[in-house]
Parts: sequence; structure tokens; C-alpha cells
Amino acid sequence: MKAFLHRFHGQPLQAVEIKTPEARGSEVIVEVSHCGVCHSDLHAWQGKVDYGRRGVVVRPEPAQPIAMGHEIAGRIVALGPQARDARIGDAVIAYPWLGCGACSDCTGGRDNMCRNGPRSLGFAQHGGFAEQVVLPHPRYVFPLGDLDPALAATYACSGLTVRSAIRKIMPLAPDEPLLVIGAGGLGLQAVAMLRALDHERIIIADMSAEKRGAALAAGALDFLHLRGDGDIEHLADLAGGPIPAVLDFVNNGQTALLAFDALRKGGRMVQVGLFGGELAIPLYSLALKGISICGSITGTLEDLADVLRLAREGRLRPLPIETLPKSRVNLALARLAGGAVQGRLVLAEDALDDAAVDDDGLAGDHPRAG
Ligand SMILES: [Zn+2]
Ligand SMILES: [Zn+2]
Repeated sequence: MKAFLHRFHGQPLQAVEIKTPEARGSEVIVEVSHCGVCHSDLHAWQGKVDYGRRGVVVRPEPAQPIAMGHEIAGRIVALGPQARDARIGDAVIAYPWLGCGACSDCTGGRDNMCRNGPRSLGFAQHGGFAEQVVLPHPRYVFPLGDLDPALAATYACSGLTVRSAIRKIMPLAPDEPLLVIGAGGLGLQAVAMLRALDHERIIIADMSAEKRGAALAAGALDFLHLRGDGDIEHLADLAGGPIPAVLDFVNNGQTALLAFDALRKGGRMVQVGLFGGELAIPLYSLALKGISICGSITGTLEDLADVLRLAREGRLRPLPIETLPKSRVNLALARLAGGAVQGRLVLAEDALDDAAVDDDGLAGDHPRAG
């Protein structure tokens, strides 16, 4: 099968013919029809992590070239002899955050928290930038139903990540003010999800004033334009004082400090973004206010099931999706790196024929990472 492989950081992915998988044991093989292109792909492709004062670390390049892509919709094309409760031909969404499958976290549906080393699709094994992906068991595929596959593919990452983060600040009364930091794909998804869960009073913050329209359209009540000076006072004006909860989808030194300073007694801040850096806070205030600081990474099987249910019930407002032919994966990464994306970018299978043209046409203009 054809796959677009990440071999060297920041270099164009290469279209390569690799072995088509065969289903063994309880495995399910899904032919990928749609795959989202996500900031996590970008981070993996660029290979840099900002550890604050501990420095910027360049991660090793993949030991084996790998097909990234973890927001996968497609059709089941093969089942292992022990794969029950799944049918060939079914349209599904794949849960990509695989763990060992055997530890107490994995058997409890929290594969994303597996301590035995991640096996996630698109990171530890081939993901949706290939024609097919392998899931170890039917429990990792969810029926697509009548959802739009391009949109529903993104629920396997942005949807479930946001659902998981929101669980960590709930319960909250619907009229309690809460702050969402970052009006990109995740932040907008969070606003839509909070509204689907009947939360009303959402303030969203971003450094770019241009994000205001999309943020309000997603269902936020107020938009806070982050300027650096006076942000905390401006927020207090909008919220009427300190607030009970913050979801930070940027999570750098500045936004985390804003989150901490914004909280009232007993407040909770959930840090989701991977921009890195570090946070210095007065520990006296941490104790005195009884503040909880929590990290959150992707989500569980139940989170994905829950997001798909909300979408099917028509409660989850759809976010803008732009589709590109799969052969344009390098263009998609470049556009994401340049910040020129509204909502989510999704690769669709229907223009694989263009591959040769794109590989030639784009060879000279892939921006390097960093
Ligand atoms: Zn495990
Ligand atoms: Zn993602």
C-alpha cells in the first residue's frame, strides 16, 4: 500500500510503497478514507520540545520511517479470526491512542494513560497517512453512522481531547464563568463541546483579534484579546471577578500564568496545549487558594464514544473543516506550520491520482521546521 512517511524532521513526507497489513488474532484493518492533519503531527514532524529552562530538546528522528496521522475515518476491510462484533464494510472512526492493551489502564478503557509505552497510531505505528491502519481489537473502532466522515475523523483527537479536559473541570454550574485559552481548532472545539453539555458562560482568549468572529460563532459569550498587559484585569471585568476554571489549549509560560492568576479559591486549571515552556508561581497562593493544576492528554474510549453520541444527537455544533487530497499532505503540514488554517484540515482519499503532480510541484517549496 502507499504511505506518506516521516523520515527526517521538517523534510517533506515521502510517498513510499509499504507492505499491506494482514489481520491476525483480534485485529481490525481499516482502509482510511479521511485523516485529519493535527498540530501533534506538526510537533512530531518538527521534532522540537520546549522544556523551558531545561532547554529546547530535538527529539530523535523516527527509528523507522513512519506514516503519521491519527484522526482516522474509514471502512473495515479485514478482520482477524478472533475479531468479533465488527463487520467488513462498516464505516468507522478509529481510536488511535493505543497502549499495551493488557495493563489496568488499558483494560479500563484508558489506553491513552498506558504506562507500558504508547503504541498510538501515527506516532508509534503507521497511522492514517497510509492507505490502511491496524487496530488490535474491535473495541477500538466506533460506528460512523450518518456523521460526515471528514468532521467525525477529527473527533478522534480534538473532540476526545477536549471532552477529556472538560471532565476535569466539571461539575460547574452552567452560568459559572470559565475561560478557554486559544481559539484554534481545540479551543473552538471546546466551546462547541461545552455548549453541547449545556454550559453557557464561556470566555475565550487568543492573541489574535481575528479569531473573535469564529470564537463567537462557536458559541463563546465573550472574546478576550490577549495583549500581555492588563489581560487579567480585562478578564476580571468580563467575568465579574476571579473564576473557577480554565482550559488552556496553548499551555505556554504566559498562558499558564494567566490561568493561575485568574483562578478563585478552589479553582482548577487544565493544561492541554503542547507549546511548552514553564510556569513559576507563588506556592503560598497555590496552597492558600487550594488551586488544582492538572495536565490532560488526549482521552479515553469512553470520551470518544461520548463525543460521537453528542454529534449524532445534533448537539455538537460542527466546526469548519477543509479537505485536501491525501497527496497534498506536505502542503497541509506547511499550512498548519504557517498558522493559515481555520478550523481543521482533513485529507480525503478521493484525489490520490494527483500524487505525482504534487510530489513534483511541491518539491521546492516546503518550509523547514522551526
Ligand atoms: Zn497498557
Ligand atoms: Zn491530534
